[in-house]
Amino acid sequence: MKRLIPLLLTPLLAWAQSSSEYFPGESFNPALPSPEAVLGFGIGERHLRFDEQQRYLAALAGQSDRIKTINIGQTLEGRQQVLLAISSPKNLARLEAIRSQHLQVLEGKAQADLPSIVWLGYSVHGDEPSGANAAPLVAYWLAASDTQEVGAILDNTVVLMDPALNPDGLDRYANYANNMQGQHNSDSLSHRTRWQDFPAGRLSHYGFDLNRDWLLLTHPASQNRIRFWQQWLPAVFGDFHEMGPDSTFFMQPGVASRVNPLTPAQNQALTRQLAQSVAKGMDQQQRLYFTGESYDDFYWGKASSYGDALGAIGILYEQARARGMQVATPFGEMSFTFTIENQLTASKALLAGVLANKAALASYQGAFFKNALALADQDKTKGYVLKNPGDQARLDDLAALLSQHGIKVSKLGEDISLGGEKLHKGRDLFIDARQPQYRLLKSVFSRQTEFEDNTFYDVSAWNLGLAYNIEVLPVGGWSYSKALNGKPWQPAKAAPAPVTAHYAWAFDWADSRAPALLADVLRAGIKVFALPGEADNGQVHLKAGDMLIPAGAQQPAELVATLDRLSRRHGLAIQGMDSGFSQSGVSLGSRGLQRVTLPKVGLLVGRDINAQRAGGVWQSLDTKAGLAVTLLDDSVLPWLDLREFTHLIVPAAAPIALNPLQSQRLAQWVQQGGHLVLMTDAVAWGVHSGLLNAELVDDKARLASFSTDGQGYGDKGSHRAQTLIAGTQVLADLDPSHPLNYGLGSDTLALMRDHEVMLAKVAGEFTVPARYDAKPLLAGFMAPQNAKALAGTAAAVAQHFGQGTVVAFLDDVSFRGVQRGSERWLSNALYFNF
Ligand SMILES: [Zn+2]
Repeated sequence: MKRLIPLLLTPLLAWAQSSSEYFPGESFNPALPSPEAVLGFGIGERHLRFDEQQRYLAALAGQSDRIKTINIGQTLEGRQQVLLAISSPKNLARLEAIRSQHLQVLEGKAQADLPSIVWLGYSVHGDEPSGANAAPLVAYWLAASDTQEVGAILDNTVVLMDPALNPDGLDRYANYANNMQGQHNSDSLSHRTRWQDFPAGRLSHYGFDLNRDWLLLTHPASQNRIRFWQQWLPAVFGDFHEMGPDSTFFMQPGVASRVNPLTPAQNQALTRQLAQSVAKGMDQQQRLYFTGESYDDFYWGKASSYGDALGAIGILYEQARARGMQVATPFGEMSFTFTIENQLTASKALLAGVLANKAALASYQGAFFKNALALADQDKTKGYVLKNPGDQARLDDLAALLSQHGIKVSKLGEDISLGGEKLHKGRDLFIDARQPQYRLLKSVFSRQTEFEDNTFYDVSAWNLGLAYNIEVLPVGGWSYSKALNGKPWQPAKAAPAPVTAHYAWAFDWADSRAPALLADVLRAGIKVFALPGEADNGQVHLKAGDMLIPAGAQQPAELVATLDRLSRRHGLAIQGMDSGFSQSGVSLGSRGLQRVTLPKVGLLVGRDINAQRAGGVWQSLDTKAGLAVTLLDDSVLPWLDLREFTHLIVPAAAPIALNPLQSQRLAQWVQQGGHLVLMTDAVAWGVHSGLLNAELVDDKARLASFSTDGQGYGDKGSHRAQTLIAGTQVLADLDPSHPLNYGLGSDTLALMRDHEVMLAKVAGEFTVPARYDAKPLLAGFMAPQNAKALAGTAAAVAQHFGQGTVVAFLDDVSFRGVQRGSERWLSNALYFNF
């Protein structure tokens, strides 16, 4: 096929891009609208907004008997997620039958020759727009092309097209880039279309990377998508991205030594087969591409590898990005349309490859689930008990997350003792390893710490038990019995008992619903006090940090009715007490009671502040702690009046992030009584700026502990990978008496560590509420040199500075929205004095 579109971008007036230029020599059904006929402009002439993309696809679907639209839900910003099912009219007429038979075949309950189910997902990173801009062309080709090739694809395939995996981010970037489009457009890498502010289009709402949310499902957009995925279990998943402009085009397979060990070898062989088909399409157009480098298939929580975990062939495609209308690259000028063409070519060639490999793909997917049961039979771990942490909501949330991935969760069917722990029928949960999602189950509770290759594109651990701070106990063969499988898990629905008149009331701070309840109680003008230690008045047993509401502390009218309403709203019991006299522990009128007040929180964001760290904090406080967060732009910090804030959070601060003027403003505010919370590399900034009285671990000395003896230049990359801590779960030992640890319910805590800032020394007494354990590594990769450097150092610091305080968390306590243990530190830092 001869291509007419030149690599060199022609001048502005030649912009008009008709779809025939994308499909030279191909004839299309004239009854169906082309993109330019609906939109009034051609694909690639500017960045397509989400509503424009949807408008065209709806118009096309309305006219075509090859397309059905399926609405799967809404994003956080209220955009509809509409998927297209594209196939022959005959297949579409029996779409539901195909779906249910496909699932039956996978369950081994039926045999049938069915169309291949292929999911095409575009631009999960919204500022990687070539995919979402190519999607209308792919849909148009499938709906309107008269070629035999398309006919054969449609007869043998159901294409599920997710035309924009991140509608919110896609729109954000399209508007941003279109704002700066002129008649003549700069190709400079410095052009502002390539330098976005917070939040960048890559991310979804709250600064979340949806491509890291496939497993964690913190966003409705991801939950909707996975619900649909489970209904279809596609055989192939094409995941269309962009990478740096100095590159070409990447297609998986990635680095062979970095494939998840639970992924069957045949998966990679088929990935290679499909890559050959795409390579052929690229060869015909003399396009450059690569495979087998840079990217990997290890972390199952990102799109393409998530597919691998669920029996699909997940394939990542990465196109060098233009981000704007054109960009100068080492290979010449590259236009936006050029990037769109490559995504179109890859999409078409992938579908051709699926057609050519139909039988092999079907047999692979069938074997995947059958083999999962065989692997489970060979495994010495027969199941897992999830111990109820005394926080039913958190346990239910984890069980709900696993269920969304098709993992069957049960109530524990009988009492059992494991490793000296007594576990209770009906209270704790049980997950049998012998189930079709055995591999995914195994990976989410993995404690693997040794790997074939120590370079990782993403995190090396994602143990959900550790993230949720829920103890997960493997059940070995000798203690397993079928009776452990109790009734299927269902979320607890019991409403709390009504709140009635009493001397005082209290609620449990360890419950994950407590911070949101507290925020509402305080907003209602009710006086609340935190208990400084354990107390028992014979009616209620309370722990340090539990919240006490005495009737006799000048409370508002309607107190009881308000408490009752809020207790119901949050599903958390507020228990009544008839006397302040404690039979043990502190008195309920103790001088140690801490008055708790509603914080006014500012969160530093901006171009140089890691948006995902900031977004994680924002989402956690807004959606789980029920607090309004003021987003403060770092670039205007010197001009803001900070006096209205009680707390400021600096979630990250790479060395360039805060200039002396900004630092000075923050220091002045703390000096005058502000409470500053620092996280991750902002801790290093805190030390350098003199706000945190501590010493950093000398990074040069740490790096020098990694010897290069006997290594050659070619080992440079793997040597560097050794020195990184790139997403590893580590253990911290807590001082349970410190207010920062109230409600955590344990004297240890798992943290997610993904950077190398460490503190060698911390000044002052009682200033370190948490230290990394002597053996800190829990799951994932960490070189022994790093483990040694980290062991025993501070994981959290709480110091006084002037009239204010500085709290430092060395790790991202709300990493990717699932650190349900460590995120409690945020609320504790906002509510408790020390
Ligand atoms: Zn991407």
